[in-house]
This record gives sequence, C-alpha cells and structure tokens, in this order.
Amino acid sequence: AESTKLDWNKAPCRFCGTGCSVMVATRDGRVVATHGDVKAEVNRGLNCVKGYFLSKVMYGIDRLTQPLLRMKDGAYHKQGEFQPVSWDQAFDIMAEKFKAAIREHGPESVGMFGSGQWTVWEGYAANKLMKAGLRSNNIDPNARHCMASAVMGFMRTFGMDEPMGCYDDIEATDAFVLWGSNMAEMHPILWTRVTDRRLSFPHVKVAVLSTFEHRSFELADIPMVFSPQTDLIILNYIANHIIQSGAVNQAFVSRHTRFAKGADDIGYGLRPTDPLERKAKNAASANTWTDISFEQFAEFVKPYSLERAARESGVPAERLKALAELYADPKRKVVSFWTMGFNQHTRGVWANNLIYNIHLLTGKISEPGNSPFSLTGQPSACGTAREVGTFSHRLPADMLVANPKHRAIAERLWKLPEGTIQEKPGFHAVEQSRKLKDGVLKVYWTQVSNNMQAGPNLMQEVLPGWRNPDAFVIVSDVYPTVSAQAADLILPSAMWVEKEGAYGNAERRTQFWHQLVKAPGDARSDLWQLVEFSKRLDTDEVWPDELLAKAPQLKGKSLYEVLFRNGQVDRFPLSDMAEGYANDEAKAFGFYLQKGLFEEYAAFGRGHGHDLAPFDRYHAERGLRWPVVDGRETRWRYREGQDPYVEQGSGVQFYGYPDKKAIIFALPYEPPAEAPDKEFPFWLSTGRVLEHWHTGSMTQRVDELHRAVPDALVYMHPDDARELKARRGSEIKVVSRRGEIRARVETRGRNKPPRGMVFVPFFDANKLINKVTLDATDPISKQTDFKKCAVRIELV
Ligand code: SF4
Repeated sequence: AESTKLDWNKAPCRFCGTGCSVMVATRDGRVVATHGDVKAEVNRGLNCVKGYFLSKVMYGIDRLTQPLLRMKDGAYHKQGEFQPVSWDQAFDIMAEKFKAAIREHGPESVGMFGSGQWTVWEGYAANKLMKAGLRSNNIDPNARHCMASAVMGFMRTFGMDEPMGCYDDIEATDAFVLWGSNMAEMHPILWTRVTDRRLSFPHVKVAVLSTFEHRSFELADIPMVFSPQTDLIILNYIANHIIQSGAVNQAFVSRHTRFAKGADDIGYGLRPTDPLERKAKNAASANTWTDISFEQFAEFVKPYSLERAARESGVPAERLKALAELYADPKRKVVSFWTMGFNQHTRGVWANNLIYNIHLLTGKISEPGNSPFSLTGQPSACGTAREVGTFSHRLPADMLVANPKHRAIAERLWKLPEGTIQEKPGFHAVEQSRKLKDGVLKVYWTQVSNNMQAGPNLMQEVLPGWRNPDAFVIVSDVYPTVSAQAADLILPSAMWVEKEGAYGNAERRTQFWHQLVKAPGDARSDLWQLVEFSKRLDTDEVWPDELLAKAPQLKGKSLYEVLFRNGQVDRFPLSDMAEGYANDEAKAFGFYLQKGLFEEYAAFGRGHGHDLAPFDRYHAERGLRWPVVDGRETRWRYREGQDPYVEQGSGVQFYGYPDKKAIIFALPYEPPAEAPDKEFPFWLSTGRVLEHWHTGSMTQRVDELHRAVPDALVYMHPDDARELKARRGSEIKVVSRRGEIRARVETRGRNKPPRGMVFVPFFDANKLINKVTLDATDPISKQTDFKKCAVRIELV
C-alpha cells in the first residue's frame, strides 16, 4: 500500500547560481513535492517557478536508464543506431578508445567537458582523473561560456577569484545598478529582495542598463538602453566623471589601489607579481601591464566625456549623468550587479575590470551595501567550475597548471610524482570543438552539459567535430539531449537528490544535500561513472616510462588505486554516513567517497583564503560562505572585522596580491567582433527565459513550464516587423553568415528590443539559435560573445 507519510529534507535548488534552499518531500522512493525553505537566508521561503516544479524534473518519460552505444552488426559503428549495452561494455569501449588515443597521440588527444552543474566532488574527481590520471589538461566547464570573463576580471583586479560581497548587501544599499543583467528573469529570488528594498525605502534607486528593454526595466528609476559594446565607453565615462567632480576617495585609493595599463595581455589569468609565473613555459603569454600614476589614469579616461558617451551609446545624457552621480555621491551606497551582458562580450574581462575601477575609485567596496557583484548562472559555477578549478588552465583554490609551484602543491597533496600534471593549459570550450573537428582530440567525454545546443556557431564549429569519424564522443546525461543524440556513447546519469551532493553559489556559499531517492534503472551518478571508469586504466597504459621511473610503486596500478584509494580519499568509513540516508556511490566503493574527496579538496584552500568547514558541518547548515575559519563564515571579504585574513588596523586588504592592493586598469573602448551591415542589418542577442533552465533539457519536460513557454520566439520592435511585412506570430528566418533558424515573431512580449535588434532565447532544442551565433571569444578569458552578432530577417 502507498505510504501517506511525507519525508521532508533540505537541498539547494538544482538550477541557478542564486542557490535557493528548497524543502524536498519524498514518499515511497519518489520526490513528490518541493517548497521554498523558510530557514534559508538566501530565499526566505520563496522559490521561482522553476524551483516550484523541481519535483517534476526527474520524471520525464524519456529519462535515460541504460547505456546506449551506436552499433552496426553487433559492434560499435560511428554511423550505427543506438543500442542498449551494459555498463561493462560501455566502460570497455571507453577504456579501449582512451588507451589507444593516449598511446598513439599522447594525452592531449583526450578531453572532457563539464559544467557548474557537477557537484563539488564530481568536478573535483573529474579534474583529478583528467589532469593527474590521464595527464590531460583538456577539461573545461561550460562556465567558460558563462563566467570565464568574471573569473579573469577578478584575477586581474584582485589577484583572487569570486565576489567580496554577499546577498546581505541588498538590504544595506541605497542604489542598484544592473549592467547586462535581467535579474527579474534570471535571478528572480534575488530580484524579489531588490524589489522589496526599492519599494520599502523610497530613497533607494534602481538603474538598469541593457541593449534591449526587459522585465527588470519595470523597476528602473533610470532605464538605459545602449548600443551594443558601448558599455565600455559608459564605464570609462563614469570613472572620468568621478575624477572630474572630485568624488575620488583619495584616502582609499592611495592606501588600497594602484594603477596599471596594458590592455592586450592574454595571460590566462597568470598573476603578474609572481616571477615564476612570468617564466612559466608554454603559458599562453605572460601579463604585460605596467604601473601608471593616478594622473596618467585621469588623462586616459578624460576623452570619455558625457557628450561622447551619450552620442555613442544612444542613452540620453541626463540619464548617464544621473547614473554617474549615483556612484559619485559619497553618501550613497551602491551595489552593481552583472551577469552575461558583461561576461559574454569580446571584452568581457575589461568590462569586469572597468566596473571595479568605479567601485575602487570611490571606495565603495567590501562593506555592507557597497558591492560590485558578479552573479553566476549555474548552481555551482563558483563551487565547482571555479573553486575546484575545472577550467583547462586551473587547479583547485585559484591555482594554475602553468605555475610550477602550483603543480608541485597539487602533486604533493595528491601523492603523485613530480611531473604528473602537464604545464600547458588545455583546450578551452570553443577550442575543444575545433580540435575535435581538426582531428586533434580523439576521445571526448561530456557530463552535465549540453554543448551541442549551448555552444556557439553549432553547424560550423561544434557538430562537425562531434561527428568527425576519427572522434569518439561520450555524453553522460539524464535525458536524450541534442548533445546525447550527436554522441557515440550515451551514459545514463543520476541527478540532483538521486545522489549526495554539494554546490557553491554566487556569494561563496557552499551547500550540501543527501541522497533522498534512487536513480531509475541503471542510471548512475557522474561521480560513480568517473571513479568506476578509473578502474579500467592502469598507470603503465597511460603514463610514460619516465614518470613511472620516479614512482615505481605506482607501476601497474589502476588509476582508481592511484587517485581514489590513496590513503586519503578512502579514509572515511561508511559508518560516517548519516543514518537513514542512501548513498549508492559510497556503498558501491565501500568507503565514504564524497567525504574523502571533499576533505582532500578542502586541503588545497585551507590557510590560503579559501577555507572550507569540515564536511559534516555542511549537512547541518543552510550553507556557509567561505573562508570559514574557526567555525565562522565570512560575509565581506577583504574587510577588517569580517575577513579573518585581514590584519588588524588595516581596514581593508586586497590580499590576493602580495602588496595587498587592487589594480585600477586603464582600458579603452574596442569595437565588437561583428556589427550589422547592409547584408545583415540587425543585431542579434541571445539569452534565457524565467521558465526554462538554460537549454531546457529538464524544464521542457515539466508540462507546466513547457506549456508556459513552449517555443523560442524572435522578439523584435513592432516597426521593424511592420517594415518586414511580418506580424506577431509570423514565421521568419533569422540568418547570419554561419547559419539560420526559423521561428515566430513576438512584438509585444516581455523583451522589447530597440529598432535594429532581435532577441532570441536559446532554451528551445527545436530552434537552435546557436546555429546563427558567432564564436568570437574574449582574448583573455576565451568566453564567447553570445550577445551580439549581425543577422538579417527574412519572411518565410
Ligand atoms: Fe532560486 Fe534560481 Fe532555483 Fe529559482 S532557479 S528557485 S531563483 S535557485
């Protein structure tokens, strides 16, 4: 008989980087309901519409439950049909392909793509398997499409990644400025807090900047639609206004900052103050900036006048002046929020640096209510992609593969011989697709991401690589996504509360959850897949003799023994697990795998400004913001009295750099990579919608969400539609130099582009707008600009 008793447990939401906590009800081995967690500081009992339907995302009718291999005549064939196989068969062919590629072409011929949807220990295990076990740095997360510019922005200005502030800033500020962030749809729960603050305190102001009008404009006191790419001009104008109006906080600037120029470094985030990094062989290049004076900086921004900013951006001068005055007013606290508008930008790193310039010039930083705040897209973009170091150039705790000291630290913590980790940064996301196409990458494993829908310029740069006859592509996923359908082998994954997990949100908050239900059929967690697969490869099959000569005791051992049975990952017994919870992965291996991985990973950051609490504490908390020292979390980093790393009497210390100063950068305007012309007269911007999570692979399977927004529409100005003889609902083609899609026109919806621009969301697998987008990337961060390219519109 069916039980009527509901069992309630906490978990972070599966979707965005806000990191809401939800209460999850299970009954008879199934998730049956969720609601917002009233004990959670982040969301205070609320969820957005995606969070409310979390209980349904696991139960789509086409859930993958067994491995599927493309086969013909009983054997693998690139052009074959998908046939069910056992996990052993799946791992056998994977092992054969990985070993052959490494033997014949070296470790650079294998790669992996993941995301900020990996749990912390999944990302850590994947990173360790790739960078240490297989000795390939070709692992990258789709955070490369999302947060890479923010990462490099932090690293350049502060020498350390991630925001100094926290969500508590919202209730402490007097002004919000949104730069390329539609929080109303993309971070709706934070938007409720912003709205509450604005409506409860009349002196609070909201400024919204974007290249088109969207829902966040409904709350704007200062609405500003600017011409694409001219945000760089507006940001420099504000710095100029602050200087010209005498609003520079001289005491703060002279004590806590220095000035630099040198815009064109492609340093891959190397820290310029570390001479070892300057010398790092094979790094993309060393940073090239040089120190300048305050006066030189003032001269540099002087040409960015109000008149120029207004003329080039198209924003009325009085609004730009009102915006600059928000920042310049010494009595007003300001929070700047941004997301993809800044990051998905061919000069995304500069945009991040330029906003820090403004907060540093005025000293409006690292204290309640004064905060430049980079919001994240994925649930663990910070926790997994950044902190764990799953980028192709990084190691845990902000360390870099190109730095010999950092490699030595990782090799020591992992108990591996010197020289195990390769020094050359691996292929980043866009490069991975190209290397598959060029036949350089031979074996490629994707987990927790859907790059065949989310990657740029799909038909020219992504699909040809995945379907290259020389490449073997594996996709681990929950549903048969576009990526899974393009793969050679599909592995069925467990998701969310079907496994024990941890995520890190945008305010440095690490949150844990228990496994609450079992995955269907033969679906297994990504962690189980990584660790179980590591049993199939021995060191002498994938490591060179010179390396084994340094550690003969490891010769002939499996990567499983070397990486996961190393005396530290396997040191916690199953009896450490909380009673009453399942943990299928730990039970499969006979030790508390997640705890071992987490504690080994935490050792990278403890004592280095990234301190995490002991594993068990997180299950008892609604998350803690790192650094957690002596049991206390940190709300405002770099601020005395808040951050344990700041010395007494110093007020503020930006301790990411040895001189404990942040850098104010002189960075110019640069035109976009592609702009409208006669043949392609419209701008195209892409993005998300409230109801769907990224590529829609989960939310499109929830009836209520699917019915709410079933199709991607082309949002356009009614006058443009009229000129094209199109009407609301007309089918049109969006055509670029790279590809085209068909979709229907929307002239009245939630997004209102100006004339000459269209906006198309990317959640719809039936209308792959990334066939049209440009694959130009920021030269520093390698992040793609999905916000601007040139298209034409044709009536069908
Ligand atoms: Fe909160 Fe984001 Fe989940 Fe919505 S999708 S409930 S805002 S974490």
